[in-house]
Amino acid sequence: MPAVTVEDILVLPRIPGTDPVAARPRRAVSLTTAPRGFEGEGFPVRRAFAGVDLAALDPFIHLDQMGEVEYSPGEAKGTAWHPHRGFETVTYIIDGEFQHSDSNGGGGLITNGDTQWMTAGAGILHIEVPPERLVASGGLFHGFQLWVNLPRALKFAPPRYQDIRAGNVALLSSPDGGALIRVIAGELAGHAGPGITHTPISLVHATIGPGATLDLPWQPDFNALVYVLGGRGTVGAEQRPAVAGQLAVYGPGDSVTVAASASQDSRTPGMDVLVLGGRPIREPVAAYGPFVMNTRQELVQAFEDYQAGRLGSIPAAHAAVRGELPGGTTR
Ligand code: MN
Repeated sequence: MPAVTVEDILVLPRIPGTDPVAARPRRAVSLTTAPRGFEGEGFPVRRAFAGVDLAALDPFIHLDQMGEVEYSPGEAKGTAWHPHRGFETVTYIIDGEFQHSDSNGGGGLITNGDTQWMTAGAGILHIEVPPERLVASGGLFHGFQLWVNLPRALKFAPPRYQDIRAGNVALLSSPDGGALIRVIAGELAGHAGPGITHTPISLVHATIGPGATLDLPWQPDFNALVYVLGGRGTVGAEQRPAVAGQLAVYGPGDSVTVAASASQDSRTPGMDVLVLGGRPIREPVAAYGPFVMNTRQELVQAFEDYQAGRLGSIPAAHAAVRGELPGGTTR
C-alpha cells in the first residue's frame, strides 16, 4: 500500500492542462544516480542529492530515500538521539512505520502517507526509530527524509513539530486521470498542502500510471527537482529516460513534465516520483553533520552549544529506558 491511494482517481479535483503554446516546459539539465549507503544505526538509504551542486538544490540541503527494504524480524533500525540546528527535517513514510521523539516535546508514529515536519531552528535533539512491533515482525519500510534550509533570519527560530496525517494531504488528478498527485506542502495549481513551511516550497508525491504523462504547472521563481522513488519513465520536456534512484534537476520554465513508461516491472504498478522545488535562499551554506549554518564560526558554536547541553536534553523517560547518551549518528 504505497502511501495514500484512492479507489477512483476520477473523482478528485483535476489540475488544469498546461497550454502547449504559452507554456515554457522545463528541461532536465542534469540526471544523477543516488548511491546507496546506511544511516543512523544502519538502515539502508539512497543519497538522492549526491554529486549535485548545492546551488542547484537551494533551498534544499539533503534528501535520503529510506529503503525500500523488506526487513527480516529483528533487523529494522533507526537512529540514536542526535542534535540539529539551522534547518527543517521532513520525513514521509510510504510503507512501514517510524516513531519520532524530540527534546521539545514533539513526536509521534507515522505510517502510510503521513509526514513529520520538524523545524530544528535554534536547536533540538531527536530520535527516529521503527516501533518495537515492526522490529519484531520485520516487514516493508520505505519513505524519505528531506532537509529544507532556513534563511539566516530564521536559523534560530523556535523549534516546531508538525504531525501531518495522510488524510490531510491534498489529493489531485492529472487532466486525463493518469496520475495521482499528493500535495504535502506548498501549493500546486491553487491547491494547498497541509505542511506549513518557513521557506516557500512545494512538495509533491505523484504516482503516474503506465504510459501516462504528468505536466505540473510550477512557479517560475522556484527551482524544480524530480526524484524517481520507483518505476521508470522519462523526465523533462525532452523525455530523458530515468529510473528508480535517479534525480533530475530541471532548468528554468513554468512547468515540470514526467512521463511513465508503458511497461513497468511487476513490483511497481506505476512510476512513483517526488517533485520538489522552492525559492532559493541564496546565502552562504556552512553544513557539517547535523548542523546547517551560514558560516564556519556558527558551526563551531553549534557543536559547543550541543556539548554544553544548550540544544536540549533527552526527555527523562527516554533516557531512563534507553540508558544512553546522545552521540554517534548525525541524522
Ligand atoms: Mn535527525
